Amino acid sequence: MNFHVLTLFPDMIMQGLNTSIIGRAIEKGLISINTINIRDFSEDKHKRVDDYPYGGGAGMVIKAEPVYKAYEHLVNQIKQSRPEGFAEYKPRLIYATPQGRVFSQTMAEEFARLDDLIILCGHYEGIDERVLELIVTDNVSIGDYVLTGGELPAMVMIDAVARLIPGVLNNDISSEFESLRDNLLEYPQYTRPELFMGMKVPEVLLSGHHANIEAWRREQSIIRTYERRPDLLEKAPLNKAESEFLKKYINQSQSDTEQ
Ligand code: SAM
Repeated sequence: MNFHVLTLFPDMIMQGLNTSIIGRAIEKGLISINTINIRDFSEDKHKRVDDYPYGGGAGMVIKAEPVYKAYEHLVNQIKQSRPEGFAEYKPRLIYATPQGRVFSQTMAEEFARLDDLIILCGHYEGIDERVLELIVTDNVSIGDYVLTGGELPAMVMIDAVARLIPGVLNNDISSEFESLRDNLLEYPQYTRPELFMGMKVPEVLLSGHHANIEAWRREQSIIRTYERRPDLLEKAPLNKAESEFLKKYINQSQSDTEQ
């Protein structure tokens, strides 16, 4: 999968993603990260890309023209790397913005099915609305807070999507059972030693009995989601026995707190 980032700070993206698992995935050619510096497309002799907002107000706004030119350049690059028949190709372009839909595991899974994903990073007060109207297909936020630029959001999204690409994690199965899959949080994890500051690893995990371990983990996922993210449980596909188990657990913990 190829990630393309339109940004004023390409070094920040490359330095942020060039280590550990994502760095190795780049090295192995499982993913590529291509940055396009919007400033390279400024026609201003001082390479300025921002200007004052029409109507007044604080801060600066990134101009439409360099963003559009950087985008055109990138789309041509992508088209050239593809077989014939992509003349009409319109890429998926995510604008990182606090005004977007909040990024989620489901979105990461959807993006991981694409061959190319473009992320546009804003800065200052944002980008001239006219170019956004022309090129953006998805407005995506990484949370309800405001950052200084779209580079950290782009890195967050690339990291979450890249680890779903086959081969990126050492053990492909490890992304299959983790938090937020099926709207459940992951069960608690333990490693050696068996005893840490008087606390023992749950017995079932030492039993070697795979069916029991799986059943225990599923129950722990349900309990954990109920305790920490009850909002997710409504969308979690629990079967009848699991719903019964949850009801019992809730009744039990309510009577425990009443005592
Ligand atoms: N004035 C803009 C507004 O109120 O919507 C905020 C601009 S913000 C200071 C500068 C840039 O940071 C945005 O254009 C966007 O690319 C990025 N950004 C800030 N917070 C973000 C968030 N929560 N999610 C994604 N991108 C964000």
